[in-house]
Amino acid sequence: MSLDRSRCLELDASDPLAAMRDRFVLPEGVVYLDGNSLGALPVGVAERLQRTIRDEWGIMLIRSWNEADWASLPRRVGDRVAKLIGAPPGCVVVCESTSINLYKATMGAAALRPERGHILTDSGNFPTDMYVMRGVAAHHGLDLVVVEPGAVESAIGEDTAVVALTQVDYRTGRRHDMHRLTRLAHDAGAIAVWDLAHSAGAFPVALGDCDVDLAVGCGYKYLNGGPGAPAFVYVAPRLLPRMSNPITGWFGHARPFDFSLEFDPAPGIDRLRVGTPHVLSLAALDEALDAFEDVDLVELRRKSERLTGLFIELVANRLGAQFELITPIDPAHRGSHVSLRHDHAYAVIQALIDRGVIGDFRAPDVARFGFAPLYTRFVDVWDAVATMADVMSTAAWKRPEFHVRKAVT
Ligand SMILES: *Cc1c(COP(=O)(O)O)cnc(C)c1O
Repeated sequence: MSLDRSRCLELDASDPLAAMRDRFVLPEGVVYLDGNSLGALPVGVAERLQRTIRDEWGIMLIRSWNEADWASLPRRVGDRVAKLIGAPPGCVVVCESTSINLYKATMGAAALRPERGHILTDSGNFPTDMYVMRGVAAHHGLDLVVVEPGAVESAIGEDTAVVALTQVDYRTGRRHDMHRLTRLAHDAGAIAVWDLAHSAGAFPVALGDCDVDLAVGCGYKYLNGGPGAPAFVYVAPRLLPRMSNPITGWFGHARPFDFSLEFDPAPGIDRLRVGTPHVLSLAALDEALDAFEDVDLVELRRKSERLTGLFIELVANRLGAQFELITPIDPAHRGSHVSLRHDHAYAVIQALIDRGVIGDFRAPDVARFGFAPLYTRFVDVWDAVATMADVMSTAAWKRPEFHVRKAVT
């Protein structure tokens, strides 16, 4: 069947997830392909924040800690995230940022393997993960061993304390085999820590089935919790009693309101908490997760593969050799974004944004396009590639203003 715009409209018409787009507030005339960096605004979040601010904060004031159960939000929202990442209830908590949760997770993991020499990661990992783990390694007197993504498997050994990886490479979109690498880590006696920043909410993650030890991830990417939404951290139930949190704050205490001067860690996942929860951001994320209610994650993944596959095919057909695809062509090996290399990727992205197609740029030369399957349509993929073809054929990206680097890319 020939691939044209009307065919894409047909694909949308028969898409079982098509109606999910109505769960989001999206501006007219914009093709949003950056939900992997900042998820779109779900319907109901603005009103929920209004209620939390006006009724709970404004009227109930401090009584809301009990009356509105603000204090347990990190765990309640954690249990909702747990369903999306294949975790049982009671082992995910939502708090702080991914960077801080990764610090807690890898510090705690390294403490569980004191006799070993290194933390292992790959060179495709996200910079903050690298920076945090360098600090953690230095603290524990460990080396941080960094290998190519394809060499992780053979680098796991009996001196490996922790294997800490991001499942989907933020730059290339390459997806690690979590099941296999976790098993290899365990066979070698190491702890497996996974960063799910580009996984949670994009496709089903099976933390329990993969027997993952620890995991972290973002609230503001595919989970749509809004700018700066708090992150999550998972600890396998079997590890919880032995898991230590390097930041021993009062909300990680078994009884914070005893105001005891001795630290006694909470028995469950609350021990990963630190201080007063971010109530407004948690309320936003809690409401945002309604967008996933009754969504079949297998269906979600199927659509994601079709969207990314369609984009790859259209780019190959219409833009040919102008861009180099750096995302795996095999859908089993990629996440939900596609990246293209171009010497002037930054300017190309700016020219696209100017025409209402929003992707992003990742240094040094990558144009990145995220496909959030809850709200991205097949026709959006068509329109994005058509706009790219126009930007390239008219050389619109050469305009000087598109070459001025902004603070956030
Ligand atoms: C987005 C992302 C982060 C972001 O961390 P913050 O602490 O929220 O800024 C961390 N790790 C990975 C792999 C990411 O993709």
